[in-house]
Formats: sequence, structure tokens, C-alpha cells
Amino acid sequence: MRMQELIRQLLAELGEDPAREGLRDTPKRVEKAYGFLTSGYHADIGQVLNNALFTVDYSEMVIVKDIDFYSLCEHHLLPFFGKCHVAYIPSTKVIGLSKIPRIVDVFARRLQVQERLTNQIADTIRDTVAPLGVAVVMEATHLCMSMRGVEKQNSFCVTSAMHGAFRDSARTRMEFLELIKLRTVGPVMREAQAAGLACVADD
Ligand SMILES: [Zn+2]
Repeated sequence: MRMQELIRQLLAELGEDPAREGLRDTPKRVEKAYGFLTSGYHADIGQVLNNALFTVDYSEMVIVKDIDFYSLCEHHLLPFFGKCHVAYIPSTKVIGLSKIPRIVDVFARRLQVQERLTNQIADTIRDTVAPLGVAVVMEATHLCMSMRGVEKQNSFCVTSAMHGAFRDSARTRMEFLELIKLRTVGPVMREAQAAGLACVADD
């Protein structure tokens, strides 16, 4: 109820009439929507991964690409969304393939910056699967930038996190990048990494 009251106040502050017909149930709907979009705070990653680790004798690269994700930028509470690509090279264990999009969701359904989201996914796989290497690349559109018309050329951002073999071996890294065939070209990726920012926070 407290959140619904806050939303009603927000609507009034925006110059709206929270009592008009179209907005009457909006506080309830917004509360429910935000509850879902931030449900990652209450998810237990251990439970998500429960019984999903298998011992194998396999050490080729495992890739799950084009995982759709939707998150909220913590600077503006506006969506950023796109594709996530994950790869790892097993040492002794693999993780059930369906669990990787679940891991992405757990961290995406929070207030985020794209860089941290990318790192959290990579770190979780590193820490639970203990692979020879793990790589995560995320490509996203940030509505806080494209809708507001700022930095249009950078509203599409690419971030990456590489550990182990993907960090140490240029060949392994290139093999992964070739397999996921980014929609963007090289220079954009370098720019995004150099800028180190997936959205402009200061306005
Ligand atoms: Zn933002």
C-alpha cells in the first residue's frame, strides 16, 4: 500500500490527476510491475542452480548466445535491454544449459548498470562452475539515452567480462567473438569499453 501511495504522489507531482479513470489502478499496476522487474533481489542463486551441476569429461567451449534480457538502469529507472552471450570452458563440471538464462534474469531483474550486470553473471559462473574460463558479452539499448535524445550514437552499448582462458588467450577470445558475431562492429565495442559507461548518469 505504501508503494501505491508513493506512485499516486508521483503522478500528482507530474501534473496528473491520479483519480482520473485511466490512472485509478495505475499505482497497483506499477507496484506489481516494479515488484517483478526487481524480483532478482529476492532470488536465491544457490536455489536457482540447485542440482544443475554435472560432472563431465568435456573441455570444449560451451556457448549460449542471444539470451534476451531486460533490466532497469539505476540512474534513471528506465529500461535497458538487449542480448547476452555467455561462454565457458568446463574444467570438471558443466551447468544445465537452461540455468544460464535464469542466472541472467536474477541479476537483470534489479536496478543495474550494464557493466556490473555483465560482471555479476561472469563471476557467478566462475564461482559456481569453476571453469577454465568464462566470457560474457552484453549488447543493450538504453532508453534513458535514446528516449531523451542524449548521446544517441552511444545509446547502444556493448560490455564484456572475460576470465581465465578468455582473458589469457587471444585465440579463445576471438573464437568466442566470432561465434557470437556481434551486431556491432569492433570500434563501437572498443568505444563502449573505453568509455566505461553504459548510460550517462549525471543528468
Ligand atoms: Zn540511465
